[in-house]
Parts: sequence; structure tokens; C-alpha cells
Amino acid sequence: MNSCTTPDCRRVTTLYLCTQCIVELDGLLDDTDDLIRLLAGAREGMAVARKPGGGGGGHPGSKPPGNLDAMLLQAWLSQLPARAFGEATDNPKAGDILYMARIWVPQARELVWGPEDEIIDHATNRERVRDIAPPMPTRQLLPWLRTNAKIAITSMDIRDWARRGKLRAVDTEPQPTYHPHEVLSAWHDTRGQK
Ligand SMILES: [Zn+2]
Repeated sequence: MNSCTTPDCRRVTTLYLCTQCIVELDGLLDDTDDLIRLLAGAREGMAVARKPGGGGGGHPGSKPPGNLDAMLLQAWLSQLPARAFGEATDNPKAGDILYMARIWVPQARELVWGPEDEIIDHATNRERVRDIAPPMPTRQLLPWLRTNAKIAITSMDIRDWARRGKLRAVDTEPQPTYHPHEVLSAWHDTRGQK
């Protein structure tokens, strides 16, 4: 038995990362491909939007994103592994990966998607939820979706979608947890069928 290598996480594990840290890291890694691609696009956009001698582009109210930030984040995110589990089994410094992903991924998300703000509609919201919410058990998920996505889902819906393969649990022990954005996708799918 070892303890998890993530700084300040001392949970016991047989791997280099504990289950919670694997789930957290996977949640961060989920977005890295999209972010790397979008950062490349953002850099082009910035190059176009930037007037000679003028300030940067960006949404009003957000701090102007620097082209250099986008380039650095792109380079850093490219160094991250694809999935957490391989790190947890093979990398004695897996905790450092999570530590850096916790810093880089939110920075990239803010640069690409802008700061978290009001919910506009369900489709936009689903994308947003994907960025901000970790997997959670049903009991936590339902009120969370009610508050943050303004939709009412029951635990029966969740069970039904899981049974029909529309939804996959991230973790099954000690209780099933689900990605909120995947629950929203299942909700969209089933609504379309009615
Ligand atoms: Zn841990």
C-alpha cells in the first residue's frame, strides 16, 4: 500500500493515484484535445483581431487573452497524457500531472470559453457544464442540475438511461457517479424522441 502522489492527498492506494484523483484527472483530461484545438483557433483569431499597435481581441469584460498565453497553454496541455489510469499505474510522479492539470486546464478553459457567466440555453449550458462539474452521485446530481441547468430529472430517469446504455457511470463504487454533461446529453436525446 502506498499513498496517493498528489500533493496534499494522502489517501491510500495501490497505484500512484487514488480513485478520486484518477476521476478528477480524467475530468480535466477530457477537455484537453478540444482545448488544444480551440487554443490554436483562438491564436489565429487573436492575430486577426489585434489591430496594429492596438489591444487584443476577446469578449468585452474579459481580460484580453494574450497570444503568448494561448501558445504556452497549448504547449503545456500537449504534454498531458490522454487518460489518467495509465499514469496512475505507471508514473511515480502522477500526482504532479494532476497538480499541473488543475492549473493549466482551467486557465485554458477560461481563455477559450470565457469566464463562467449566466446560463443562456440548454445547449450552451451542456457545454459549460462539461467544463465545470465533476462526476457526482445521483443524490448530488439531481439538485445540482436543477440549480445549474434548470432541468428536473429523477433518479428513475438516471437508472433508465444507464440501463438503456445512454449513460455510463464514471465510478461504480461506493456508488455510481455520472458526468453531469453526459446526463444532460441523455436528457436531450430522450426529449428528442418524445
Ligand atoms: Zn489522491
